[in-house]
Amino acid sequence: MAVSKTQPVERIMDVYQQAGQRIFGENRPQEMLEKQAALPADIEWHLIGHLQTNKVKTIAPFVALVHSVDSFRLLQEIDKQALQNNRVINCLLQFHIAQEETKFGLSEQEAIEILQSLEFATLQNIRLCGVMGMASNTEDTEQVRKEFRALKTIFEHLKANYFLDSPHFHEISMGMSGDWRIALEEGSTMLRIGSLIFGER
Ligand SMILES: *Cc1c(COP(=O)(O)O)cnc(C)c1O
Repeated sequence: MAVSKTQPVERIMDVYQQAGQRIFGENRPQEMLEKQAALPADIEWHLIGHLQTNKVKTIAPFVALVHSVDSFRLLQEIDKQALQNNRVINCLLQFHIAQEETKFGLSEQEAIEILQSLEFATLQNIRLCGVMGMASNTEDTEQVRKEFRALKTIFEHLKANYFLDSPHFHEISMGMSGDWRIALEEGSTMLRIGSLIFGER
């Protein structure tokens, strides 16, 4: 997936036309809405940044995949707005795998609590498609590898315990411009690449 945050629509259109890219990721709902309105309708828009519940309605009509679900409250709001738009919204659970305090995300235990809750079972307009995580921003490649491996392990636990019968639960969104090779080696199914495609922001 091409991360187009901060890039003008002209640059995105170049990548759309010259490389045939159809999946773009943004981290701000308002920016994503404006670009979606200005660009071709066959683009799949992925939300990759932290999502506040009051911004869900901005993107609910069109978002293809929300990578950054980090609370049950957010999942409930996505479900509610999806229902209002008469659609099902695909989501990934974001996990906190990095050493940095600042990165958002659930722990495995928090995710299990969500998945086991009775309220979760009532949500009908979200579809969980897998997991997402960001590794530490460090030169220590073994640390990064360890974090990606931990995310893959979480994915496998959840798949085995809660999603064995759901073919949709298959995505492991991990790897950015600086660490994509390691992410692929550790089982990423979706890389989120910004600066390697568009240049430095
Ligand atoms: C910005 C961003 C990326 C892409 O980062 P690059 O280093 O430019 O490839 C990937 N994932 C998330 C969540 C981001 O915010």
